[in-house]
Amino acid sequence: MSDSVPLRPVASRGFCLVLSAPSGTGKTTVGELLTAGDSTIVRSVSMTTRTKRPNEEDGVDYHFVGTDEFKAKIRQGAFLEWAEVYDGVLYGTPREAVERVIRSGDVALLVIDVQGGRAVKAIFPEAVLVFLVPPSLDSLSTRLKRRGLETDEEIQKRLSKARTEMKYLPAYDYGVENDEGKQQSTVDAIRGIIAAERRRISRWEPQ
Ligand code: 5GP
Repeated sequence: MSDSVPLRPVASRGFCLVLSAPSGTGKTTVGELLTAGDSTIVRSVSMTTRTKRPNEEDGVDYHFVGTDEFKAKIRQGAFLEWAEVYDGVLYGTPREAVERVIRSGDVALLVIDVQGGRAVKAIFPEAVLVFLVPPSLDSLSTRLKRRGLETDEEIQKRLSKARTEMKYLPAYDYGVENDEGKQQSTVDAIRGIIAAERRRISRWEPQ
């Protein structure tokens, strides 16, 4: 028996919570609801070379940069992970900000794709990977069309990507169903996962 384990969880070490889901599954909203009013869950703001959408704010939704700047950041080792999520479109998780959150004992929420999830687990085996499962690919298609943010061709691309993404499910620790209009119960389920993970004895800080 180790004497360095405290009798109670006086403090638990921070960790990464990765949230992945096929596009259109509503993960952005789930992420927002999770962090709202809870300062111990801090969403990581990714960097991307994608064009900003009208409803998005630079530095809040993403750090929008050009490809040259993104590539310079890769060379500087500024990313915990990065991936080409769509053809020619790069996304990356800034390393320092995430490490700061974990050091302070909080949960760093990474809303990233499946390639990113796998990379994070390789770096931080204690990271918790949650996959939001859509009710069906048909419902996903309807949701993407209704959202009206992409062209038909882009929607087809996203749907075919969703099929590939679902194959990563076994690499994840938890699967949470995210039915349309039931986002609050999805959020409650994830909060339950976080509460349990915080109580994991391996995360207890020695006194
Ligand atoms: P969107 O362009 O719709 O905001 O995001 C497209 C995809 O990129 C989503 O699956 C989103 O989770 C993912 N993504 C966003 N930021 C990152 C990141 O930093 N790294 C990785 N690997 N994927 C990301």
